[in-house]
Amino acid sequence: MAYPYTHEKEVRVLSKYFGDPAARTVQGWRERGGWQALEKALTMQPEEIVNLVKDSGLRGRGGAGFPTGVKWSFFREDGKPHYLLINADESEPGAFKDRELCRWTPPQLIEGALICAYAIRAQHIYIYIRGEFFEPAAILGRAVEECYEQGIVGRDLKIDVTVHLGAGAYICGEETALMNSLEGRRGQPRIKPPYPAVVGAFGMPTNVNNVETLCCIPHIINNGAAWYKSMGTEKSPGTKLFNVSGHVVRRGNYELPLGFPLMELINDVCGGIRDGRKLKAVIPGGSSVPILHADECNIDLDYESVAKAGTMLGTASVIVMDDQTCMVKAVRRMVDFYAHESCGQCTPCREGTAWLAKILRRIEEGYGSEEDLDAMLDIGKNMSGTTICVLSDSAAAPTASSIQKFRDEYLAHIRDGRCPFGKHEMARPLAAAH
Ligand code: SF4
Repeated sequence: MAYPYTHEKEVRVLSKYFGDPAARTVQGWRERGGWQALEKALTMQPEEIVNLVKDSGLRGRGGAGFPTGVKWSFFREDGKPHYLLINADESEPGAFKDRELCRWTPPQLIEGALICAYAIRAQHIYIYIRGEFFEPAAILGRAVEECYEQGIVGRDLKIDVTVHLGAGAYICGEETALMNSLEGRRGQPRIKPPYPAVVGAFGMPTNVNNVETLCCIPHIINNGAAWYKSMGTEKSPGTKLFNVSGHVVRRGNYELPLGFPLMELINDVCGGIRDGRKLKAVIPGGSSVPILHADECNIDLDYESVAKAGTMLGTASVIVMDDQTCMVKAVRRMVDFYAHESCGQCTPCREGTAWLAKILRRIEEGYGSEEDLDAMLDIGKNMSGTTICVLSDSAAAPTASSIQKFRDEYLAHIRDGRCPFGKHEMARPLAAAH
C-alpha cells in the first residue's frame, strides 16, 4: 500500500505514479513511457487526433461531463489565435484530485495539453491554478521551466505554456470568470453566449479543459479508443479519480473504472464507515450536487446512473457522512461557503445565498420555525436556473435535498430548540445573525 492508500481494485492509469517524485521531471517521465504519445500525435493530422478522442468517448472531468472530442471539434483553421485554457482552480469543497495530478505528474498534464493544443491549433496554453496550491503550483512551474529548457515547449512546437496563479476565489473555477481573472479583470462569470470556443480569452477562440481530462489524452493516443472504451460503461468510458472525504476509514484518491458501485467504494476500497458507525448520507459529486440518503446509495458511479438517482457525478468528489452528522449544520456550512463566494452580479444568488445562510443558522441555533423550511424551498426554487452561472443552483441543491430527505432532523431542531446532536456552533449572538 502506498500513496497514502491504494487498493487492488484500482485501475491506476492517471495515478500510476502518484507518490513517485521521479515522475515529476522530463527525464523521469520519459523513463516511465512518457512523451511517446506526443511524438505519435505529431505524426497525425489534427483532425485525426480529434476523431480519436471523439471515438474514445472521453467526457470532461471538470464536472459537466461534456464529450471532449466534440468540444475540440469546434476549433478549425480560421486565421485567429486559439488558446487552450487549463482549469486547475479546483475549488469545489470535497474535490482534491487535480492538485494531485499537478503535484505528482506534471509532465503527464503538459504532454496531454500539448497534444490538445496541436489538435485545436492553439499557440498558447494557460494553466490557471488555484493560488493556495503552493506546492503543486511550484512543482508544475518547475516542470514547465524544464520543458522550456529542453525545447519540448516553446522552441520545437512553437506552443508556449504559462502557469497563472489565481487568488483563491471559488467562482474563478467557472470558465468565463476564469478567463476574466486571467485577463486581469474582476473574476466574475460572463453571460453565455458567446461561448469560449467563439469568443474566449482575450476575445479569441478558447478551449477550456480540466486537468484530469487532459491527463487522459496521452494514454488514449498510446493505447487507442477501443482500449479506453474497454474500461467503464458504454456511455461513461474510462477510469475516474474518485476523491473520497468524510467519515470513511481510508480517505483519499482512488482511480476506478466509471460505473464502480458506490457502496463498494465506501465499504471495500475505503474500509467502511469509521468507528463502526452507520452511513447516513453521501454527496457524490462535490458539495454543489443534491445529497443522497443512505437508502439511495446502492448505485453505480457513472454519469447516467448517478443522474438517474437524482443527483450528479460532478467531479466525483464523494463526501461521506455518518449517523452522527448534523445535517442542518453540514448544509449551513456549505451554504455559508456559497454565500461568501457569490460574486454578487445576480440578485437571486447574492440575496438568496445570504438568506438561506441566515435561516439555516437560525434553525441550527434553535430559533427556527416550520415555515422556515417552506421559505427555504421557495427561495431555492427562485435561485435555480435564473442566474448567470450555476453557483446559485449549487447552494440551492443541497439545501432542498436535505429538507426533502432529512426533514425530521430540521423539525427536531425547531421542536427542541437545540441541535439533537449537540453540535451547533453558537459562533455569535442570535441578534448578529439577523
Ligand atoms: Fe455571480 Fe452568483 Fe450570478 Fe454566478 S450566480 S454570476 S456567482 S451572482
